[in-house]
This record gives sequence, C-alpha cells and structure tokens, in this order.
Amino acid sequence: MVSRVIPVEPFDLVVFGGTGDLARRKLLPALYRRMLAGQAQPGSRIVAVGRRVLDADGYRRMAEASLKEHAGPGALDPDRAAAFLDMLDYVHVDAEGEGGWASLADRLEGSERMRIFYLSVVPHLFGPISERVARSGCRTPDTRLVVEKPLGRDLQSAQVLNRRLATLFEERQIYRIDHYLGKETVQNLMALRFANALFEPIWNARHVDHVQITVAERVGVGGRGAYYDENGALRDMMQNHLLQLLCLIAMEPPAHFEPDALRDEKLKVLRSLKPLEGLGDVVRGQYLGINGEAGYLEDAENPRSRTESFVAIKAEIANWRWNGAPFYLRTGKRLRTRMSEIAVVFKDAPHSIFPESTGSTGPNVLAIRLQPDEGITLRLTIKEPGPGGMRLCEVPLDMTFAETLGADGLSMPDAYERLVMDVIRGDQTLFMRGDEVEAAWRWIDPIIAAAETAPERPQPYDSYSSGPEDALMLMHRDGRRWRALTA
Ligand code: NAP
Repeated sequence: MVSRVIPVEPFDLVVFGGTGDLARRKLLPALYRRMLAGQAQPGSRIVAVGRRVLDADGYRRMAEASLKEHAGPGALDPDRAAAFLDMLDYVHVDAEGEGGWASLADRLEGSERMRIFYLSVVPHLFGPISERVARSGCRTPDTRLVVEKPLGRDLQSAQVLNRRLATLFEERQIYRIDHYLGKETVQNLMALRFANALFEPIWNARHVDHVQITVAERVGVGGRGAYYDENGALRDMMQNHLLQLLCLIAMEPPAHFEPDALRDEKLKVLRSLKPLEGLGDVVRGQYLGINGEAGYLEDAENPRSRTESFVAIKAEIANWRWNGAPFYLRTGKRLRTRMSEIAVVFKDAPHSIFPESTGSTGPNVLAIRLQPDEGITLRLTIKEPGPGGMRLCEVPLDMTFAETLGADGLSMPDAYERLVMDVIRGDQTLFMRGDEVEAAWRWIDPIIAAAETAPERPQPYDSYSSGPEDALMLMHRDGRRWRALTA
C-alpha cells in the first residue's frame, strides 16, 4: 500500500542540542527520511546549535556519520544524502550566556519561512533558551517551539515551566513531545475506535473486564544511571507515556479530529482518575544483578537508592464508561523482553453452551502492539480444525503493519518523522497541552510522595524476569493475570 505524501512548506528548523544524542540518533535521520519520501523539500534549512565550536562542514561530517548509522538499511543514497547535508548549518551558541545569539539571528534574518525552535537540551535550558529566542529578535509570529520530556519533575515545576513559556509564546505555538503519540499504532488506535462502528458499543466496563498497558524494556539504566536515579519509572515513563496511552483508550469520542477537541477529552480522563491513597495499588521494584551485569543499585551508583526501575499501578477511572474496569499499568527496565502493548481484555461469554470436554479458552483480547512489530491482534475462540469433533482453540486475528502496509521501511515512518512533520504542518493533535501535563502530575505527585516516604524499599526482582512478585499479586488478587512478556 503506497501512502500519499504531501510536501510541507519550506521551513527553518533550529535544533538546540543539534550535536546531542537525540538529534543525531532520531531527528536528523527522521528529517532525512522525510526528504527521501518527498515530504521535506530541499531548500528548507536545518540550523543545528550547540556549545562546541564547529563550522558547518564539521557539523555536516558529524551528521553524515549519524545518517550512516541510524537512517536505516539502504537509506543512504549518496546524491540525496549530499542534498540533505546541504540543508544543514551550524551555529555555536551558549544557551545560558549571550555568545552566539547575534550570529543565529543573522543566519535567520530575512527569511520569510516558518521558524521552528526544537529544544533538544536538558530541561533547565528550556526557559533561558525561550527567553533569548524572544529577546534576540529570532521570534516571528509564525515561530513554533518544540520541547521534549521531562516537562517538570512534579506539578509545581511543570506549572512554573508552563507559565514561563506562556509569557513568551502562545499555546498554539508550543509543541510538547511525547514520542509515543507519534507511533503508527497509537494513531491507528484512534482510527480503530472512531472510524469503525464495531467497537464503540462494547468499549466500556459492561463488556471490558480490564485494560493492561505494558512498556517493558530489556536494557538497564547503565550509562545514565545517575540521571535515571533522580527520576525513576514513575516520573520517566508513567507520568507521560503510560498515562497518555491510557487517555487514548479511555477517552470519549471527540466531536472532531482536531487538536483541542482531542486534548479536551484526554484531559477529562486524567481528571477522572481516582486519586490513589498510599501504595496499596502500587508496586515498585529494582532489578538485581546477573552473571556479572550490575544490578540497579550499582548502575545508579547509589547503594541506598529508593528509586524504582519498575512500577505497576492499578488505576481506576471514575466515570460512567469505565467504573468497574480497572487499568493495570506496568513499566520497567531489565525485563524479559522489550515490548510495549495495550491489551483490552473483554469479559467472558455470559454462558458457555459447550461442554467442558471441548476445552477451555480465555476471553477475547484486543492487543495493540507498539513495539516491536507494530500491529493489532484480536484473540478469538474458534473450533479446532479437523474431523475430531467440537473442540475449541484460541487463534489470533493478526495484522502486523509492516507486513500489511508494505515492508520497505520508508512506508512505516518513525514517530519522530511524523511528529516533526506535524510541527511543520502546524498540527498539534499529537502533542500534549500544558493543562494535560499538569493534570498528569496532579495524579502522579501523591504516588511519588507516598513512595518517597514509605518505610519499604522497592522490591528486588531478577534481571530479565517479568518484574517483582508483588506485581503479579496486584493482578492475582483480582483474579486476573498479566499477559506474558513475549517479543
Ligand atoms: P545530550 O546528548 O546530552 O545532548 C545535549 C545537547 O545540548 C548537546 O548538543 C549540547 O551541546 C547541548 N547543550 C548543553 N548545554 C548547552 C548550552 N549551555 N548551550 C548550548 N547547547 C548546550 O542530550 P540528549 O540525549 O540529546 O537529550 C536532549 C533532550 O531530549 C533532553 O531533554 C532529554 O531528556 C530529551 N530526550 C532524549 C531522548 C534520547 O533518546 N536521547 C529521548 C527522549 C527525550 P554540546 O554537544 O555542544 O555540548
């Protein structure tokens, strides 16, 4: 299936942190792939900004090496890569001082194109950079500002950041990235729910037993342990990615597929989450070392750390649609496999007409897989094929997007490709609004406070396992179980 590509308007994209990991691993390859697809036109400009002293050619060499490593197999066509590298420029600016700002303003001077400032830098620079962008004359009425997580480390700091940005930019100019929202499957979730009449009548607690959302990683925190230890799974994953996924499953149909209509509905979900008192519905864990690989405490370089590398939560949404159907959320490092999935587990058939001898089967499950192999599976019960009489078995009705929609890689854009193009198109649908970010912190903050003052430490769990025993119990005590962590 060939997707239609509509070229975007020429743009000037200024990437603060252009020499950093995110820019080199994700942004540059994403922009290059969009150029290959004919969406980003040569003639646009990408101005990387960093602290280190480099000239444009030096930066292009760095970018070329990044494309070779990260643009995907077979994507580096020499002529087209040269055309892309020609779009790149570099300015040395100190985000916290005054040096370099005049050169940046000069470089942008006279251009009528839309201007995007992508802040791919540590969060404490968001405020200083935004202010200098405004003061140095770089801001135009059509300027857009892109900020990356973490957006605060609690409600108060998120409010301070939002207020600071609001004095410099209008909300319509601010794009807060949660890259999970850029994944093909996540958008397909909205198409599945709102473009098919099939699901809406059963999308509620009368028919859904519960929902599971899992974001499991195999890697530990080695290499960035000290940074991670300041945050933990609650701040790093739960407050943003998992709650955003929960919102998309739980929200009411918006009146239109428009940014504010959609974000209003997500906000209502966040505000309907039942506050958790204490840690009765929360399990925290830390991975243990294995076969010479360090455990969490060594990786964090903090033997007394109480930060969680795993967290599971039973969340409930107090509204008419979801009352009685809990959402179980879990995320962690050093787990059995890398897997992100949303599973909507339906109730059992109200009465079985089949004798026990036909074999027992589980409930219908709609599984929406974010990684690896984005796709959607519906687990159904059918008759076992063959002449052996009536015996029941479970089969997946499976749609893996890469197989169904074309496996050439370019037709399955990475989340950053879609998100950067959306910024250029001025479409905020897949970006978080300031009030959503604050509502998520409002729910998470008391959980973090309870965790930080609890007498119990996070429960140790084996590396490459399914997480702590207590996380299994969180489901077992409700007569349910987690789906297996399988690739
Ligand atoms: P990084 O590798 O540490 O890069 C930081 C960048 O900021 C470098 O380009 C650095 O320039 C620049 N910088 C630092 N201080 C500066 C200053 N005073 N003036 C001008 N430039 C300055 O960080 P990263 O991993 O790319 O992450 C960037 C942001 O994205 C962070 O907010 C992070 O949380 C977020 N994020 C990253 C990822 C990821 O996969 N990496 C994923 C999600 C979110 P020099 O190199 O010249 O020093």
